[in-house]
Amino acid sequence: MSRYQMAFLGVGLAVVAALSAPAPSLRAQAQFAPIQTHALNGGVYWIEGGVGSNAGVVIGKDGVIVIDAKQTPESGKAVMAEVAKLTPKPVTHVIITHSNLDHVDGLPGFPKGLTIIAQENCKQQMEHPRNNPQNIDLSGYIPSKTVAKKESMTIDGVRFVLLHFAPAHTSGDLIIYLPDQKIAFTGDITVMRRPYPLIHLEDEGSSAGWIESMKGIVALNADTFVPGHDGTQTKAELQQRLANTAARREKIKELVAQGKSLPEIKKEFGEAVAPPAGGGPGFPTFTDVVYKELSKT
Ligand SMILES: [Zn+2]
Repeated sequence: MSRYQMAFLGVGLAVVAALSAPAPSLRAQAQFAPIQTHALNGGVYWIEGGVGSNAGVVIGKDGVIVIDAKQTPESGKAVMAEVAKLTPKPVTHVIITHSNLDHVDGLPGFPKGLTIIAQENCKQQMEHPRNNPQNIDLSGYIPSKTVAKKESMTIDGVRFVLLHFAPAHTSGDLIIYLPDQKIAFTGDITVMRRPYPLIHLEDEGSSAGWIESMKGIVALNADTFVPGHDGTQTKAELQQRLANTAARREKIKELVAQGKSLPEIKKEFGEAVAPPAGGGPGFPTFTDVVYKELSKT
C-alpha cells in the first residue's frame, strides 16, 4: 500500500461511510484530529480537524455564519468552541455544501433554531436514511432555506452568492462564494485526495456535471478556494484539475466507443481492476463512474 493510499484510507473513511454503511471497524477508525483554525481575509476562517470535513466561519456584523458541520456532534461542538475564541457573536446560520455525513452529522453539536441553508437536493438527501448510517438525530437541523441554482443574499452584512451549477460530487452540491473577500467554499467538488474526482452516483452526482461545475468555479472572481478536505487551493490548481479530468473523461469516452470493456480500460490506465484487498467497501474510481454513466445511455 502506497503512502498515498494509506493517507487516502485514513482521510477517506467518511466518504466510505457515505457510500454505504461502513464496517464497525472502519467507523471506529474515524479519529478526532487536532482542531486548527486558519484565518483568511475579511473575517473569514476555515477549521480543519475533529472528525469529517473542513468547516468555514464567516463573522458578520451581529452573528456568525458557519459552512459545513463536520461528522460528529463532538466535532460540531469543537467548531462552536473555535468560533467562541474568535468572537462573542452567536452562530446564526449554517450553510451546507452537500449531504455527505462527514459534512452534516456534526449539526447536533450546534444549537437548535439556527437557519440551515442547503441546495434543495441536499435537503432531500439529508432526509434519506441511506445518508444517515450513523443514525444521527438531525431533527431541528434539516435545512429551512433551500437554493435551486443561484441566490445572492446578504447575511449579517456579508454578501454571499450561493451557486449550484450542475450535479457533480452529488446532485445537491452548493458553492459558497464571498465576492468581497474573493473566497469560495467549494465542498468536495474540488477535493484532490484522489487522482481524479470522487463522484457519488448513489447521490446522483455526475462526471459531466462535475466538469460544468468546475468551469463555473474557476470563472468566479476568487483567489482562494476552500475545499471540503485539506488545505486551500488556487485558481491555477483548479484549472489544472479541470483540464486533467476533462482529458481523462474524453479518453474513457474514446475507449468505450472502441468497444473496450471496463477491465480493459482500467488496465490501459494502470488502475487496479479488482477492489483493494482487505475488504471494506471500495471507492468507485472516476473510470468506474464514467464507464457506468456512458454504458447507461
Ligand atoms: Zn467530504
